[in-house]
Amino acid sequence: MPANIWPRERSEYLAALWRSGHSFSQIAKFINEAFGLELTRSAVAGKVGRMGLHAKDRVTHQLPQPRAIRAQRSLSAAATKPAREPPRVPLKPRMIDILELTSYTCRYPYGDRPPYAYCGCPPLKGSPYCRDHTELCWNHPPLTGD
Ligand SMILES: [Zn+2]
Repeated sequence: MPANIWPRERSEYLAALWRSGHSFSQIAKFINEAFGLELTRSAVAGKVGRMGLHAKDRVTHQLPQPRAIRAQRSLSAAATKPAREPPRVPLKPRMIDILELTSYTCRYPYGDRPPYAYCGCPPLKGSPYCRDHTELCWNHPPLTGD
């Protein structure tokens, strides 16, 4: 019997990656790199199914409109633009220690004085922060050039 490859921390990381809209292949890659494993996309898909995660809880890959731009939009533009933004599910911070930070964890700090806790959710491509903290810090999605 193999050791438990899905301890609680890893399962929560998988759930956060899945909710933020990553594919099974991307999730497998992130988890393999973060935890030194060799999981397949099928292993991830199976775990997502066993965890009972629902597609309705996922965010799409469309980045949300920045609030500042939305506020500046004229009334006529807003009236002609169809409402297409999916309902947002706020990411739940993992509140990890500084030693747990990797290139696959959001580096947004919590707390007024050390020791700080860090968000730890999966970051957006090209950003040190997750979706929510990228918006909070920069008020726009990161400019990745692709
Ligand atoms: Zn974050």
